[in-house]
Amino acid sequence: MAKQKMLQFVDVDREMPQKRAADTRAQDFQEIYAEFADKKAKEQASRCSQCGVPYCQAHCPLHNNIPDWLRLTAEGRLEEAYAISQATNTFPEICGRICPQDRLCEGNCVIEQSGHGTVTIGSVEKFVTDTAWEQGWVKPVTPAQERGESVAIIGAGPGGLAAADMLRRQGVQVTVYDRHDRAGGLLTYGIPGFKLEKDVVMRRVKQLEEAGVEFVLNCNVGEDISFDAIRGKHDAVLIATGVYKSRDLNGPGSGADGIVRAIDYLTASNRKSFGDDVAEFESGELNAEGKSVIVIGGGDTAMDCVRTAIRQGATSVKCLYRRDRANMPGSQRETQNAEEEGVEFVWQTAPKGFTGDSVESVIVQKMRLGAPDASGRRSPEVIEGADYNEPADLVIKALGFEPEDLPTLWGEQALEVTRWGTIKADFRTHETSLPGVFAVGDIVRGASLVVWAIRDGREASESIMDFLNQTAQVAAE
Ligand SMILES: Cc1cc2nc3c(=O)[nH]c(=O)nc-3n(C[C@H](O)[C@H](O)[C@H](O)COP(=O)(O)OP(=O)(O)OC[C@H]3O[C@@H](n4cnc5c(N)ncnc54)[C@H](O)[C@@H]3O)c2cc1C
Ligand code: SF4
Repeated sequence: MAKQKMLQFVDVDREMPQKRAADTRAQDFQEIYAEFADKKAKEQASRCSQCGVPYCQAHCPLHNNIPDWLRLTAEGRLEEAYAISQATNTFPEICGRICPQDRLCEGNCVIEQSGHGTVTIGSVEKFVTDTAWEQGWVKPVTPAQERGESVAIIGAGPGGLAAADMLRRQGVQVTVYDRHDRAGGLLTYGIPGFKLEKDVVMRRVKQLEEAGVEFVLNCNVGEDISFDAIRGKHDAVLIATGVYKSRDLNGPGSGADGIVRAIDYLTASNRKSFGDDVAEFESGELNAEGKSVIVIGGGDTAMDCVRTAIRQGATSVKCLYRRDRANMPGSQRETQNAEEEGVEFVWQTAPKGFTGDSVESVIVQKMRLGAPDASGRRSPEVIEGADYNEPADLVIKALGFEPEDLPTLWGEQALEVTRWGTIKADFRTHETSLPGVFAVGDIVRGASLVVWAIRDGREASESIMDFLNQTAQVAAE
């Protein structure tokens, strides 16, 4: 039993700090770390039973050939393992770090299903690709032949960048427009650095720049340049703008100072980690240091907020969620991490209102799970007369995101959207209602995952190539 436990998920970064204390010399630390990581990756990879029914692969949105690269890793053939892994994934080291593996590949590993603890597929994927970068196996993106056509990509998140990579490899001229000052989308300004180091993202952006992808940053399409002008300048357009309209709270006091949106809070924290001057952080508005913090919501964004607040030195961090633990949308692994770091979850509670001009407390309603709704999920209902006040001087709203109204913002009513406001795009080809315009990622799916955005971007690049080839053929006839 002890051996089995030892062989289960081993998080190198968690175990190493003890060694760091014993080791004062950075050089020694790096060497020990590398040796330790190598040993653990091989140990984990060798646990794959090569079962022949790779549910892990089936449940990876990119259908990564996991058993093959695990076998090669176990045999120490890391360069070959990397070659197989990168063939289906544009950013394997990013997915290895931030995919919710417990809901995807690892959750479906047959060893996990048989109760022996999953092979830590994500950690191995991260290790193999990080090693590839260190060893110089990650090759520059070099097109075999340049093409004359140009494609505009609106949005430099994982969906847009994955498409940019694939199109550039085929020699297409690619221009990526983004309203932020750095590329990466939520990889850069949403997901915290303790989950995804920013140099890992910037390294990929640099690789694309070196491949000839042009980035037009600080450019808000619809304001700084019209959508129509972009269509006029390029042969095809890919919309990969994500979803950024935060769901809001109502109720008395909900406009008080000290009640902030999760995306603003996380962006400020990420900007600080780049060394930027962030006025709202310096003023304390978006800084949890020394504060009693309440985060409202139960998804992955809420988990990122609570864990960031702990790292910023909050005096207490509580998370209010209206359902129970079993019914929360966020990853169980993330919740466990947060608890271990000192976050208190107050299950089955919801905010009714707030006190103070600058927030002093949240008026908390207690909830219970009622009868199942049409979807079969039990709806939370209020327990009357059980309200209480929970002191707080920073409240972070992490209630999810909705799409912005692009047809109105861009003055393009022919761009069809669903009743949720997401762009209507063909599930397979990613074509929208406008000819030559494609769409991928969260703006089509609603708030989703990085790995799905990557898959969409890769698939859309194929459809865009078909479109460009057909257009060229028609022009030649
Ligand atoms: C806090 C947080 C944590 C998350 N953690 C995880 C995680 O751990 N694992 C995971 O798999 N997923 C996670 N996600 C979800 C994941 O980040 C998204 O699903 C993914 O980034 C979507 O990719 P995208 O390319 O569609 O959009 P985005 O990454 O949102 O990128 C869209 C880009 O478009 C730009 N843009 C928008 N409108 C315009 C415009 N009009 N003009 C120019 N540019 C524009 C934006 O500035 C942005 O850079 C998280 C999301 C959040 C909010
Ligand atoms: S991309 Fe994500 S789901 Fe696929 S193997 Fe890697 S970590 Fe698992």
